[in-house]
Amino acid sequence: MSTRARQHAADVVRREQLTPHLVRLTLGGAGLAGFASTGIPDEWVGLVVPEQFQSRYYTVRSWDPGADELVLDVVVHEVGLVTEWVARDCAGETVTISDPRGSFALPDDAAWLLLVGDLTALPAMARIAETVPAGLPVRIWAEVPDAEELRACGYLPEGREVTWLAPPAAGASDLAAVVEGIDWPEGEGYFWMAGESAQMRAIRKHLMRVRQLPSAAYDVMGYWRGGARRQPRAVDPGPIWREGRAAGHSDDQIWATYDEAQDQQEADR
Ligand SMILES: Cc1cc2nc3c(=O)[nH]c(=O)nc-3n(C[C@H](O)[C@H](O)[C@H](O)COP(=O)(O)OP(=O)(O)OC[C@H]3O[C@@H](n4cnc5c(N)ncnc54)[C@H](O)[C@@H]3O)c2cc1C
Repeated sequence: MSTRARQHAADVVRREQLTPHLVRLTLGGAGLAGFASTGIPDEWVGLVVPEQFQSRYYTVRSWDPGADELVLDVVVHEVGLVTEWVARDCAGETVTISDPRGSFALPDDAAWLLLVGDLTALPAMARIAETVPAGLPVRIWAEVPDAEELRACGYLPEGREVTWLAPPAAGASDLAAVVEGIDWPEGEGYFWMAGESAQMRAIRKHLMRVRQLPSAAYDVMGYWRGGARRQPRAVDPGPIWREGRAAGHSDDQIWATYDEAQDQQEADR
């Protein structure tokens, strides 16, 4: 069975600076006619920008099948392949995206939902919060640099309990400490989190060993890796995801395999 996702050419129809660190790209054009959303609210695509061959992964913030328009919200870092491209006026340029994959799996009987993440996780947290039943209690912790602007533009839907956290000045995330300090709701629920990979590994250990959550009760994903350099080649989560699912692995096992693949690539450099 092929593990390669289909590719779609897409034109940048609009580029909007939502906040100082977040750029919204609306993609469209005839190449997206065959695009099919999974409907899973944290679904992501691989994005290849002009004159590059390496993918970076972005959450489908929204997909309008009537207009064949796809929205990605892209964080602008200090350096980076997509960062440098998106920082300039890229409207009218053509990119390539892969078929989407998603990982969020809310159990039918979940009584609550906790979402934790940094700015790269915010598009997924927003779409999840918009998608799950309005009556489900949802709490969100967002460690972001532009909290005031994000609040002002209503980035997260009304009616959800949101804690905005400023990233520490030194740059390292404090999300592991945030998770350790959570006052967990009663009953069975679902925990979803994404951010820097090393932090996510520590959090998985905490959920497994301290909170003793079954793997179906949480989904913790390493979205990016700390380090001073531009990432040489991101590891594609798509094939790892499909192979893991085919082998009957849990979300958690699959994301741990993804982290190992990234470590291996780092070691091979
Ligand atoms: C499933 C999935 C979904 C994702 N969804 C989104 C999304 O919707 N929006 C989004 O912006 N990102 C998202 N990401 C994260 C994104 O793929 C990475 O941040 C990516 O490395 C950015 O690419 P780049 O070319 O700009 O920087 P790279 O060339 O990959 O990295 C350059 C430098 O920037 C640093 N860097 C990379 N990411 C960050 C960061 N978040 N904070 C601080 N420094 C960083 C790296 O350590 C490196 O030093 C997602 C990742 C995954 C796996």
